[in-house]
Amino acid sequence: MLLQKERELIVEYGQKLITTGLTKGTGGNISIYNPEKQLMAISPSGLEYFKTLPEDVVVLDLAGHVADGGRKPSSEFEMHCIFYRRRPNIQAVVHTHSLYAAVLACLHWNIEPTHYLIGFAGRQVKCTPYETFGTRELAEAAFAAMEDNYTVLLGNHGLLAVGPDIVRAFQTAEETEFCAQIYYLTKTAGQPVILSDSQMDVVLEKFKTYGQKER
Ligand code: 13P
Ligand code: ZN
Repeated sequence: MLLQKERELIVEYGQKLITTGLTKGTGGNISIYNPEKQLMAISPSGLEYFKTLPEDVVVLDLAGHVADGGRKPSSEFEMHCIFYRRRPNIQAVVHTHSLYAAVLACLHWNIEPTHYLIGFAGRQVKCTPYETFGTRELAEAAFAAMEDNYTVLLGNHGLLAVGPDIVRAFQTAEETEFCAQIYYLTKTAGQPVILSDSQMDVVLEKFKTYGQKER
């Protein structure tokens, strides 16, 4: 089986989508790109995460052709491929239907930098116009609205996060959902204080050395 390790990670992180409350049912999808093999492993379409086995994960090339696997790939494979084709430092993509991100996406609001953890996503999180799920139009809209950030809201739909590996992409999705909650709640309570560009510059610089060094 091609990309065995990536397939196992897709199963593990797919289950985490449910246990962390980032999605419900079969909503959302996950992929991991292997740059040496130029192939990606992606969750199968419409299969429950706790029923998904490594052999159910589908391996695609970046043109979207199946290289290995008997299942139908996620309907959003275009939205995953586009980041691997156009942003070489991106090697994992996580799509969720988490509650507050979806609420803001239905309002077509961007998430402004109110809580510093927005730094995981970049300076702010923009929202795309509405496009039908599983289309090239949605993939293009997500790519354009993300610019060089790491998260975007999909209009009337949910959240998309990307990263250099699955650990980081998943963490970015979680932190962005947290920031979506903070932004919505502060907007309904009053006027949130927006962090300035220079305050965000400091945060983004500190994030470069945050946490443990690789050993
Ligand atoms: P898939 O089950 O095809 O991955 O679709 C779920 C989804 O979230 C569509 O946007
Ligand atoms: Zn979706």
